[in-house]
Amino acid sequence: MCGIIGVSGHPDAARLCHMGLYALQHRGQESAGIVAIDEDGHPRAHRGMGLVGDAIPESVLGSLGGNVAIGHTRYSTMGSTVLANAQPHLVNYHGGALSLAHNGNLTNAGGIRAELVNKGSIFNSSSDSEVMVHLIARSEAPDPELQIRVALERIEGAYSLLLSVGRTLFAVVDARGFRPLFLGRLGDSAVVASETCAFDLIGATLVRELQPGEFLRIDDGKVETLTPLRTKPMSRCVFELIYFARPDSTIFGQSVDHVRRALGRQLAREQPVHNGEVVFSVPDSANAMALGYAETSGIKLEHGLIRNHYVGRTFIHPSQSLRVAKVRIKFNPVRGVIENRSVVVVDDSLVRGTTSKGLVQMIRAAGAREVHLRLGSPPITGPCHYGIDTPDRHELIASDHSTEEIAQFLGVDSLGYLSLDGMHNAVGRREQHCDACFSGVYPVPVDENMVLARHQHPVSTRQE
Ligand code: AMP
Repeated sequence: MCGIIGVSGHPDAARLCHMGLYALQHRGQESAGIVAIDEDGHPRAHRGMGLVGDAIPESVLGSLGGNVAIGHTRYSTMGSTVLANAQPHLVNYHGGALSLAHNGNLTNAGGIRAELVNKGSIFNSSSDSEVMVHLIARSEAPDPELQIRVALERIEGAYSLLLSVGRTLFAVVDARGFRPLFLGRLGDSAVVASETCAFDLIGATLVRELQPGEFLRIDDGKVETLTPLRTKPMSRCVFELIYFARPDSTIFGQSVDHVRRALGRQLAREQPVHNGEVVFSVPDSANAMALGYAETSGIKLEHGLIRNHYVGRTFIHPSQSLRVAKVRIKFNPVRGVIENRSVVVVDDSLVRGTTSKGLVQMIRAAGAREVHLRLGSPPITGPCHYGIDTPDRHELIASDHSTEEIAQFLGVDSLGYLSLDGMHNAVGRREQHCDACFSGVYPVPVDENMVLARHQHPVSTRQE
């Protein structure tokens, strides 16, 4: 997953991107980067590994001058965790300096990449996004807008994109609108970002959300809406609303906080715990769901788990043994809330089951009499091919285990998932959402090369 932000028409463009990237940090913690373009059209880039503050120290911002900039935070879903894969990509081609920041996953990048390599293209990275750079650079169309258009006609899958060609900024959302992207304004300058919370941080006001297929050209803060890409049935990622986006953002026209509370209320109706004495969340992603659960069930909400905020998301270390150790680093139970009580623990989703198993052990060790786990989404039975970093099918515990088996593995007294219908009822607009990871209905067919690529580029830890 990734977070992207772009600024046009502001003398401190790179600094604004840098600030905005802090608000998008939850969307990717492996690497971050900024490309800034000065008044003469010269681009300068800085990319680094780790969190925004480490990857892009304040001290480098002075050298990223210009009133156009784009920024990116990355969590790899394709390609490994190395600096070469950090974005934005930056190249010089016949049209000048071209930079690109991508959120999403392309489903046919493997085949196109093989074809380009056979024709002599040299790739700098193993990320799927670089394919788009090559397609644009090879296009014989007369201007950047058409070059981008021609390139995107060959591309399938999920992309919310920011590109700069010379001093012009382009923003594009794929035809199905898998990932969010917003246009904002800050005085005379234009800002585009993955989530509205980035606008709050830099003081920009929201203009609107980009619709599927929308294509913008921005010059010196002036926004022009270009002919949209040919749209296809909408596939807004429902998992953005469940887990990924920040609750203080509004995405796909809905407050993330409101959606999560509605999911929690629906969960309480479908999966009650009659002898529950206290309800608490696995912080922070499930906080709003636990609130909704408490509202509807009438069981008192308390803080039963404390999260250490100085470690990233559990999946940041993608090796299994490190992940288990990180559960303890990340959470600690509050004995005074848990001891001798029947507790209802609300989490947003269950992926491998590793984190939850560790948590249940800790909650029992803190004296819980009974542990009832409730999940604000249905069983995840398949990987995401459109940009969420769910693991391969064989690692997803619900892909080949029943709810009873999972409950036994986790060591809980009861386990209750939200139903697929219940999730859609709570979120609303069912026909607009992609729910492939839950339903197995994939709106864009997946290229076998891409499935193989996930195995060939195992995600490694970030010492590299
Ligand atoms: P586990 O018990 O190992 O299945 O982990 C479940 C936890 O992972 C839940 O608390 C979720 O909030 C969190 N989670 C769900 N999806 C993702 C994801 N794509 N990346 C990182 N964490 C996730």
